[in-house]
Amino acid sequence: MVLVVQKFGGSSVADAERIRHVARRIAARAAGGTRLVAVVSAMGSRTDELIALATEVTVDPRPRELDVLLSTGEVVSSTLLSMALHDHGLDAVSLTGQQAGIRTDAVFGRARIAGIETARIERELASGRVVIVAGFQGVSESEDLDVTTLGRGGSDTTAVALAAALGADACEVYTDVAGIYTADPRICADARALGDIGYDEMLELATTGARVMHARAVEVGSLYGVEVRVASTFDEQAPGTLIRGEAVMEQSNKVRGIAHQSRVGRVTVRGVPDRPGIAARLFSPLAEAGVSVDTIVQNVSTEQLTDMTFTVASGDLSRALRTVEAALPELGAAAVVGDSDVGSVSIVGTGMASSPGYAAAMFETLYTHGVNIELISTSEIRITCVVDAEKVNEAVRALHEAFELDQGE
Ligand code: ADP
Ligand code: ASP
Ligand code: MG
Repeated sequence: MVLVVQKFGGSSVADAERIRHVARRIAARAAGGTRLVAVVSAMGSRTDELIALATEVTVDPRPRELDVLLSTGEVVSSTLLSMALHDHGLDAVSLTGQQAGIRTDAVFGRARIAGIETARIERELASGRVVIVAGFQGVSESEDLDVTTLGRGGSDTTAVALAAALGADACEVYTDVAGIYTADPRICADARALGDIGYDEMLELATTGARVMHARAVEVGSLYGVEVRVASTFDEQAPGTLIRGEAVMEQSNKVRGIAHQSRVGRVTVRGVPDRPGIAARLFSPLAEAGVSVDTIVQNVSTEQLTDMTFTVASGDLSRALRTVEAALPELGAAAVVGDSDVGSVSIVGTGMASSPGYAAAMFETLYTHGVNIELISTSEIRITCVVDAEKVNEAVRALHEAFELDQGE
């Protein structure tokens, strides 16, 4: 019998009516003889509300407690979906991350899945049950069995990892838009849903802001060869987008998509002595603190002193500043300042690797629209510009038009 892992995001289970809608969809699929594992996110913006609640109680909630708190959001939605399925006469069972056998490292707030013991899920499936798994969570491998969460948006990763571990025939991610679009459809009305997209392009889009898929879910998919269909929970006719290995031999000479981050954190370290080893001394403590650094610019040195600027996710800005502040004496640097009035816009496409001219076209478009570029970073298949936060949406729309992404493939 065919086994399918489905995932329903927060907006898909935001209230009782939507939960009943999702239950109807699952019941219809199960009636066709498919064995189903459904992964759910917390209802609507429940995770944000729980974080807000924690920070009302204390300015600095301990990560261990925060993870237990946040994990409850997904537990709530999984039980409710299971109950709604019982109304359809289906034998459904909800499982927490721990019950589903999801083992992680002990890095609270951004734990990585170390392995999945699938015995319980397989037993439930074998007895004819629909299995509902609370997404975004697991337990640490140590004997403490501490509850961990996988980082914001992590339910996608739960679903793809489960599909890999169970050897599922398909993995389907249902959300509030009809697939992966050429740009965020909420800010670019001309954006189109793509028929398919390769893991490499999807990973670049996800890491530079397309939150429709958790970047680590794309990594797991690529590593284990799990194809992921991203589709709408509500529009059942729309085919959605298939994320898979690169299918075409010659990549089309086109930008595939545009990603943006409304805000990123910018850190500038002033008066850094310009000598070997300084970059290592600056970035090692950041890595230890779990801050991943994006664009880095080292300014021209005058009198053996230089300024270094880099960007981090906006949520990591205060941790980055604290970490650099502590390292200032060792660095011999003068000061560190941070702000978050910048955002980023990225163009992505495998065709870029073999053809010149994309960077020039991107910079020209931004220039024509009066968007000042503050920092630039590139990979083989991506160019990212850090720009004024106020200009991000306009930049996305301008680039979408300039690279003719509204025109079909
Ligand atoms: P879920 O709760 O289902 O996980 P998310 O809010 O995490 O949903 O992700 C879906 C959202 O991602 C969409 O509502 C859309 O605004 C945003 N998004 C950003 N970039 C894209 C893109 N390229 N294609 C589709 N959606 C995108
Ligand atoms: N509920 C979690 C979040 O809001 C996980 C997820 O939705 O994937 O980040
Ligand atoms: Mg999501």
